[in-house]
Parts: sequence; C-alpha cells; structure tokens
Amino acid sequence: MKFCSACASPLELKIPTGDNRERHCCNHCGAIHYINPKIVVGTIPTYRGKVLLCKRAIEPRYGFWTLPAGFMELKETTHEGALRETWEEAGARVALGPLFTMFDVLRAEQVHLFFRATLEEPVFCAGEESLDVRLFDEQDIPWDELAFKTVTQTLKLFFEDRRQGRYSLHTGDVFGHTDWQPNDFLAQHKPYTQG
Ligand code: ZN
Repeated sequence: MKFCSACASPLELKIPTGDNRERHCCNHCGAIHYINPKIVVGTIPTYRGKVLLCKRAIEPRYGFWTLPAGFMELKETTHEGALRETWEEAGARVALGPLFTMFDVLRAEQVHLFFRATLEEPVFCAGEESLDVRLFDEQDIPWDELAFKTVTQTLKLFFEDRRQGRYSLHTGDVFGHTDWQPNDFLAQHKPYTQG
C-alpha cells in the first residue's frame, strides 16, 4: 500500500501512538490503513455419502479440485457466504450443517472455515470459476490433485469422523497441526507483566 485511499497522499509505515505494530499511516489526513486477515468460507457438500468437489477454472491452482469456498463478502454472515460460494461455484443449493473446520493460514493471511452441508437432490453444475463439478466416493477422492492443504485436511478429518460416527469441530493451522487449544497460545507467549 503506497497511497492513502482517503486523500491520495503517500503513506508512511510506522507504529501509531498507542499501537504496538507498524501500520500504513497517512501524515496528511491522519487515516490509519489497517490490513487484517481475510476470511474464506466454504462447505463440504454431501449427497448419499458422496462429496461434491469443484475443479478450479481460475488461478491459483487452476485445474485442481477443491471444496466450494471463497472470500467472504461485506454485509454477509459466514453462513450466507458459504451458501453463496456453494451456489456460485457448484450450482448447488445445500442445507447448511455445523462448522466443521477452522484453519489459520498465516502465509496467505487468511482464515478458512468449512461447514458441513447436504444436497437434497443431486443437482449441481460448474459455475464460472469451475471447469467441472462432481460427486466423489471416499475411495475416488483425487488426493494428489487437491488445490489447497486446508481442503485436504478438511476431507481427511471428515472421513475420519464419519468412520467414528461422530463429527466435531476441528481447528488448526495449514501445516496440518489440528485441534489447537487456547492454552497453546499462552504456552508459547510469555505473559505480559507490568513494571
Ligand atoms: Zn490521507
């Protein structure tokens, strides 16, 4: 970010008063431009035990398979975003279930959320961002042609939980470390003590 989106003046990277990290600051109008992680929302759509995957028609990872997912828009909930992406990419209307995975993707500055979802009818089609959309049995999942690590992790956890007959919420990071606890953070960061 080089110029202020409010007044078009050049920006300076500095720590604002009262803050603790560098921000893009406008010395002309005083605006501080924060950059925060983006949220990606998606679904694990199933029909009679099969999972719906989309073959990407866009970069990154053109031609690789993915669960329907995309960037959350302003003025929509995570649920609405997940339903919209499933409709746009897979042409599928689904009944949304509970949140299943939440992954921190630090390198891409994103957080990925996947909800379980069911198709009432096997009705779907490739949207503008998909080359193909298909239902896969577990044994047919193209594991080597999946687009993103969070998709691979989500599918692995989904089939594991299904075998055990119970689903729970899984959290983790993109490297495949799952089920973070709040105490992991405290263990890694020295507590702040005053004086
Ligand atoms: Zn400005």
